[in-house]
Amino acid sequence: MYYQYDVIVVGAGGSGLFAALSAARQGVSVAVISKLYPTRSHTGTAQGGIAAALGNLEEDHPIWHAYDTVKGSDYLADQDVVETLANEAVEAVVELEHMGLPFNRTEDGKINQRRFGGHTRNFGEAPVKRAAFAADRTGHMILQTLYQQCIKHNVSFYDEFQVMDVLINEDGVMTGVVAYEIATGELHIFHAKATVFATGGWGRVWEITSNAHTLTGDGPAVAWRRGVPLEDMEFFQFHPTGIYKLGILITEAVRGEGGILINDKGERFMEKYAPHAKDLASRDVVSRAIYLEIRAGRGIGGKKYVYLDARHLGAEVIEKRLPDIADFCRTYLGVDPVTQPMPVQPTAHYAMGGIPTNVNGEIVIDRQNTPLPGFFAVGENACVSVHGANRLGTNSLVDLVVFGRRGGAAAARFAKANDFAEMPKETWEPVRTMLDDLLAESGEENAADIRKEMQEIMFANVGVFRTEELITGAVEKVKELRERFNHITIQDRGKRFNTDLLEMWELKNLLDVAYVTASSALARKESRGAQAREDYPKRDDVNFLQHTLAYLEPDDSVRLDYKPVVITQFEPKERVY
Ligand SMILES: Cc1cc2nc3c(=O)[nH]c(=O)nc-3n(C[C@H](O)[C@H](O)[C@H](O)COP(=O)(O)OP(=O)(O)OC[C@H]3O[C@@H](n4cnc5c(N)ncnc54)[C@H](O)[C@@H]3O)c2cc1C
Repeated sequence: MYYQYDVIVVGAGGSGLFAALSAARQGVSVAVISKLYPTRSHTGTAQGGIAAALGNLEEDHPIWHAYDTVKGSDYLADQDVVETLANEAVEAVVELEHMGLPFNRTEDGKINQRRFGGHTRNFGEAPVKRAAFAADRTGHMILQTLYQQCIKHNVSFYDEFQVMDVLINEDGVMTGVVAYEIATGELHIFHAKATVFATGGWGRVWEITSNAHTLTGDGPAVAWRRGVPLEDMEFFQFHPTGIYKLGILITEAVRGEGGILINDKGERFMEKYAPHAKDLASRDVVSRAIYLEIRAGRGIGGKKYVYLDARHLGAEVIEKRLPDIADFCRTYLGVDPVTQPMPVQPTAHYAMGGIPTNVNGEIVIDRQNTPLPGFFAVGENACVSVHGANRLGTNSLVDLVVFGRRGGAAAARFAKANDFAEMPKETWEPVRTMLDDLLAESGEENAADIRKEMQEIMFANVGVFRTEELITGAVEKVKELRERFNHITIQDRGKRFNTDLLEMWELKNLLDVAYVTASSALARKESRGAQAREDYPKRDDVNFLQHTLAYLEPDDSVRLDYKPVVITQFEPKERVY
């Protein structure tokens, strides 16, 4: 089938839905294409909260929020966009409230707020209550609220349609996408004046992750294969508190409410690593501390985990403010956090890098920030860059709403100012050929083995700590796996709900994203935020205070370029918590 819309949005998480809503409010026709039913998107699992300097409980200002975000980013964030984030966060949260989002309240009826790592008052003086929340179901509520609003504003939805290619014409203008209908195996052409990518993260590159199975980096991989660079891919956040072995997230709100980390000796070890902020230091710092404790033999029983202890918070706080994580622990671990500490280890959690964009969500493709007309990206798959080398907790949800809203509005403006551009000569044909090739293969390999080997090497070698030798090993291994991928045999050759085929295609994306991540990490010979190189333990502002741009070359190699970081008011300095 052939469809036409002024604006199409790929992805129905918080960022995609806000983009769709904000475009629809400008009176253009809008469709959302999503491989999942919208409210199943990963945004729905976000627990802890959304940052905004509302100042409802304690004095707070957007400029303090901006400072914390820049410091958290290890000075790699672009400070002009961070200012936009912090300023517009307040308005965006109030707007969500007006749409009906059921935030927790203070006694006098204001939106309640709690502490989160790295968020402080007065430029680092003391922790501040900045995270607005709806119990530990904040993302769920955002998703439900925005979905209702989209329906109200007549946004069309194509659920369980998987976008597999972008249609960039001969003049370099984005004209739409090719989507695979999961129920039938049919391909569809969506012709659009403006297209917004909002496909979320790619934690599934790593063995232990908090991310849903569906987070396979489809958007960035598809764009990259069509010439769009990927920015700062070496920066992937490892959240300190995943459930041991499973990776399922235990929200930082547990520490925000007063929970602490302890080692085998019962010591509160964060006091050593971050004397000031302790358990609420930023995530990269806490994850490294846990690794060092484990390496020194102080993991629980010598194993690869430590305890997160919330017992002293009492049953009431745990049941009222952290009900879902209490349930997770009881269900998955048989551990009751009211009476027992929770076993945790760092888990691959969040992509700071992604498709480069400017403050309006327009995709920019080089160091001069040249836009690719008609193509936008928002949310976790975009790199605008407000998170730089490390994101603060609760700053993703606010990124989704601030830049989702801006990106959708900019896409609608673009659609109003331009006609439908001519599509490229070939539209669905390359996808058909690619799928036929995947279906026809009859080699020795299978997707599950390749996925497992990729996840293991990426977790071991391009994880919390890295060295030249480890990363080189991962690059070589991923190259080998990308080659072996060409000899996979598929079991299911049918057309309806062929999940075998889709998982295989998603693996292709994961391998591409892993390849870019490892290649970018290898070239960055410094430690900054989430990239901790044991062979280059210091931050190197002289050579690396810049964003990485990674391009795919015709010979299948990765070409790296760099672009400057925007610094407005916060001069880079050493980061201590
Ligand atoms: C367990 C967990 C807890 C978190 N807690 C917090 C928190 O408390 N505070 C905070 O600020 N951040 C939190 N985060 C981070 C934050 O939730 C995510 O960064 C954010 O929700 C990502 O939203 P998104 O709109 O970019 O994408 P997602 O919500 O991930 O949605 C992606 C969408 O893209 C669609 N899609 C993907 N590929 C395709 C394709 N090929 N074709 C069509 N559609 C496609 C999917 O169907 C889906 O609708 C948490 C993350 C996790 C994993």
